[in-house]
Amino acid sequence: MGFLAGKRALIVGVATDRSIAWGIAQAMHREGAELAFSYQNDRLKERVEPLAQSLGSSLLLPLDVGSDEQIDSAFALLRRQWTHLDIVVHAVANAPREALTGSYVDNTSRDAFRAAHEVSSYSLTALARAARPLMQGRAGALLTLTYLGAVRSIPNYNVMGVAKASLEASVRFLSADLGPQGIRVNAISAGPVKTLAAAGIAGFRRMLSQVAAAAPLRRNVTLEDVGNAAAFLCSDLAAGITGEILYVDAGFSTVGMSFAAESEG
Ligand code: NAD
Repeated sequence: MGFLAGKRALIVGVATDRSIAWGIAQAMHREGAELAFSYQNDRLKERVEPLAQSLGSSLLLPLDVGSDEQIDSAFALLRRQWTHLDIVVHAVANAPREALTGSYVDNTSRDAFRAAHEVSSYSLTALARAARPLMQGRAGALLTLTYLGAVRSIPNYNVMGVAKASLEASVRFLSADLGPQGIRVNAISAGPVKTLAAAGIAGFRRMLSQVAAAAPLRRNVTLEDVGNAAAFLCSDLAAGITGEILYVDAGFSTVGMSFAAESEG
C-alpha cells in the first residue's frame, strides 16, 4: 500500500506531460492517492484529459485561477463529487513574456507586475481559502512550486522572482493561519526543468547547463525527483513539516562558488 492511500488530491497546473504537476501527479498516483485535475482553458483540456484518464481519474475541472467564479465552481463540484479533500497541488505561474527578458527595471511595467503576482502568487491564497472547508477535520496539505529567483537575482527571471518571493511569504502566512486546523502549507523550490512555462524565460537553456555544471550532483533535476519530494511533503510522513521551502535542485542553491563550470563544463 502506498503512503498516500486514502488521500484525495486536486492537481492544479498540468499543461503537458512535461509539466512539473504531471510529475507530481504520477508520484502521488503511484503512492495510492485518488486524483482530480484542473485545466486552465479548453485548449489545454484536450491535453490534460487523456493524461488524467491514464491515471484513472475522471474528475476534470475547468479552473482559471484568475477567476473567483471559476474557483468557487471548481470547489463546489469537488465537494459534490468527493465531499472532502486532503491535498491541493498549486503548480501555476505566468507573467507577460516581455517582462521575462532583459532589464528588470526597464521591462517591469505596472501591468506585468500585477499580472505576475495575481496568477503566480495570490492564486495560492485563493485556492487555500476555497480548499479549507473541504479539509475540515482532515490532515490537509497544500503544496506550491517556487524557484531560487525568489531569494537570488537570476538573469531574465525578473518580475517572476519578485512574485515567487511573495508566494514564499504566503506559504509562511498560510501555514501560520491554517496550522491550528491541521492544514500544512509547504513549497518545493525546484531546479530548472524544461517545461512550457520555462520556455517563456529568455536564456533558459543556459540555466540548465549552469546547474548541470555547478550543482553538487552535476545534473539537473527530473520530474521524478520533484514528484517524489512532493508526494512525501503532502503525506502523513511529513506531518511535522509546514511553512517550509524545500529545495529540490541537485544542491545548486547550496553552492557559494564553483570552479566546476570552468574545469568540467
Ligand atoms: P507548465 O507550463 O507545465 O505549467 C504551468 C501551469 O500553469 C500550466 O498548467 C498553466 O495552464 C498554468 N497556468 C498559468 N496561468 C494559469 C491561470 N491563470 N489559471 C490556471 N492555470 C494557469 O510549467 P511548469 O514549469 O511545470 O510550472 C509549474 C510551476 O513550477 C510554476 O509555478 C513554475 O514557476 C514552477 N517552477 C518551474 C520550474 C521550471 O524550471 N520549470 C522551476 C521552479 C519552479
